[in-house]
Amino acid sequence: MDFTLTKEQLLIQKMARDFAQQAIKPVVEQIEKENAVPAEILQGLAELDLFGLAMPEQYGGANAGYESYVLAMEQIARVCTGPAMIISAHSLGLGAISNFGSDEQKAQYMPKSCKGEHIASFAFTEPGTGSDPKQLTTSAVKDGDYYVINGTKRFISNASYPGPLVLFAIESESGKPTAFIVDKLCPGYSVSQPWDKLGWHGGDLVDIYLKDVKVPAANVLGQAGDGYPILQYGIAYGKIGMNSVALGTTLAAYEEAVHYAKEKTHRGQSIAKFQAIQLKIAEIAMLYESSRWMAYRLGFLANKPKSYRDFAKEAALSKVVVGRNAMEAARHAMDIHGSYGLMNDYEIARIYRDAAMGPQVEGVLDMQKIIVAGDILFG
Ligand SMILES: Cc1cc2nc3c(=O)[nH]c(=O)nc-3n(C[C@H](O)[C@H](O)[C@H](O)COP(=O)(O)OP(=O)(O)OC[C@H]3O[C@@H](n4cnc5c(N)ncnc54)[C@H](O)[C@@H]3O)c2cc1C
Repeated sequence: MDFTLTKEQLLIQKMARDFAQQAIKPVVEQIEKENAVPAEILQGLAELDLFGLAMPEQYGGANAGYESYVLAMEQIARVCTGPAMIISAHSLGLGAISNFGSDEQKAQYMPKSCKGEHIASFAFTEPGTGSDPKQLTTSAVKDGDYYVINGTKRFISNASYPGPLVLFAIESESGKPTAFIVDKLCPGYSVSQPWDKLGWHGGDLVDIYLKDVKVPAANVLGQAGDGYPILQYGIAYGKIGMNSVALGTTLAAYEEAVHYAKEKTHRGQSIAKFQAIQLKIAEIAMLYESSRWMAYRLGFLANKPKSYRDFAKEAALSKVVVGRNAMEAARHAMDIHGSYGLMNDYEIARIYRDAAMGPQVEGVLDMQKIIVAGDILFG
């Protein structure tokens, strides 16, 4: 067991940290207010290969492994969660294409996405459900060499950007959930106004309306009627990004807490002298440290999973811990700030809102516990 980061991993971590600090930090307030990430920031992330970091070289990726992906994403999310959310959702969609796509599909959809010229999406959630594939209502009706897709997808990340969308719909011949690759912005495809989210500002989140969208039958991802494993895979692998965002948020809470504890004074001395403050700082440090190793380990496991079922359980388990830790760390950091923390002038206010996001996205925490318990008791 070796916990030492390789030279390449340290380099990628530093590259992401420097970019976040130098290029993203100056525009964090703008991203918060406008709820959009400037194009030059996305381009900068693309130049660092962050849109295809863990993807195979053959299709334009950097093949740097999922540990490097976690290390880089943590540093981006430490400064601003919006860009990290974009990369996380993109990697979820792209990872599904990389793992289940035919050679033709990968050659068609991956190179531009790995270079950040296209941004991928993954659309499962609908107004009726975000957790249960049996309740999907979006339909894909076979019509010769095409499918005609109708339905509404709710809360879909990156859906306003051009690129491939891995979309789940009920296929007419099998009557079962099936994954399709849809070109976003094609005829019949439209989106809502962006949702006004509590946190993760800048991350694109809209509903998608599909009205008689024609998709070639060759764009079925995997087999017709066999979308469930793709969904399970996607959601499990998506948690690597979700964990990284929560980890970066925990690190940000930690740094803000330490900074404020040293800076704020009472009777001429910093509040760091109070033992109550020290206990909170220690709690946050412990939360960060436990999240760090769980998130890094999930990246490590993702490169060579024992089985996808096993990986899904590990992903669910770590998502609960890392997501909860982010919320708890942000709460302690908020306590250290007192009323000042409630003011949007203070970074902890944004961090607190960001921390609340992870537990509800890509499977709420209780659903993760159900996956874990199901594997332990009946797996
Ligand atoms: C910022 C953001 C980004 C997102 N990005 C995407 C995206 O890119 N693609 C996408 O498809 N979705 C996306 N989503 C949607 C998100 O993943 C879902 O909203 C989430 O999985 C929860 O689904 P839901 O809100 O419909 O909750 P529901 O499924 O309605 O659950 C509501 C409550 O009921 C409980 N519950 C539900 N079913 C059961 C059960 N069987 N047993 C016990 N309890 C149950 C849940 O634990 C939860 O507490 C995004 C959401 C947000 C906020």
